[in-house]
Amino acid sequence: MGIDSIKTVAVLGAGTMGNGIAQVFARSGYKVILRDVEQRFLDRGMETIGKNLDREVKKGKLAEAEKGTVLGRVRAVTSIEAIAEADFAVEAVPEKLEIKRAVLMDADAILRQEVIIASNTSSISMTTLGALTKRADRFVGMHFMNPVPVMVLVEVIRALQTSDATFETTMKLAEKLDKKPVAVNDAPGFVSNRVLMPLINEAAYCVMEGVATAEAVDAVMKTGMNHPMGPLELADFIGLDVCVDIMHVLQEGLGDPKYRACPLLKKYVAAGWLGRKSGRGFYSYAK
Ligand code: NAD
Repeated sequence: MGIDSIKTVAVLGAGTMGNGIAQVFARSGYKVILRDVEQRFLDRGMETIGKNLDREVKKGKLAEAEKGTVLGRVRAVTSIEAIAEADFAVEAVPEKLEIKRAVLMDADAILRQEVIIASNTSSISMTTLGALTKRADRFVGMHFMNPVPVMVLVEVIRALQTSDATFETTMKLAEKLDKKPVAVNDAPGFVSNRVLMPLINEAAYCVMEGVATAEAVDAVMKTGMNHPMGPLELADFIGLDVCVDIMHVLQEGLGDPKYRACPLLKKYVAAGWLGRKSGRGFYSYAK
């Protein structure tokens, strides 16, 4: 489907990523059908969008009257059939293959044949996900970063079966959202996690081996390399459990022992020290 025919976008999942994705599409003038399994998840997602837009109004980036218009473009639904009129779909349901399989097969059966389905998965093979549908040539990855309304990068991931037309349309669509699309081929961790996670892992090894404290490792990377956040601060923000999971994806997918997760990271996860979300990781976030 050509870029100019896309007016309505279905977003599957209204969680952390889904509500952000719905917001950026609505902010760029698209009608959005936001789908989740229960009304309470939709309410939470819509509340987050409302708060984000309020912040934009306060900063003078959005007129108060425009806020209502943007919110009015998002229709929150629990019924999967309600996505039938969408011209493009983005999947942002939990990172579990069984859940994605069910959602993609349902969407594939309901959406018109020419509609492209994009997945926001961070670690599952796009080629595998595409093969679950009967439109693998119209399946692509759209890997947004968290928080979606703030982060400019979208890795546009070409699965083995993705057609050139699908890929080009998706690149252009990301530009319409004022994002910076970057072309990446399907491979474990894509580029973002393939490069970031070994950095975080190595930083954890430095702490484990007593090379330096977490604060010192982060200080080196912030002041020496101009990283806005140190790798361990960032690991706490992402979640140490998520970091370990992604290292496992890299190790399994690439088969190289250099991707083994740092034992200290695994120990922290075993202790329930998951970073910000649990109140403790490399740093303490006790109130
Ligand atoms: P989340 O748990 O915050 O949100 C997932 C939402 O999907 C929940 O609201 C859940 O109720 C809903 N859901 C479950 N089953 C569903 C179904 N059958 N139909 C529709 N909705 C359903 O998860 P998230 O952090 O937003 O992650 C979503 C995807 O984005 C994952 O694939 C993840 O790997 C990827 N991702 C996450 C991040 C991140 O930083 N959180 C960054 C990039 C990509």
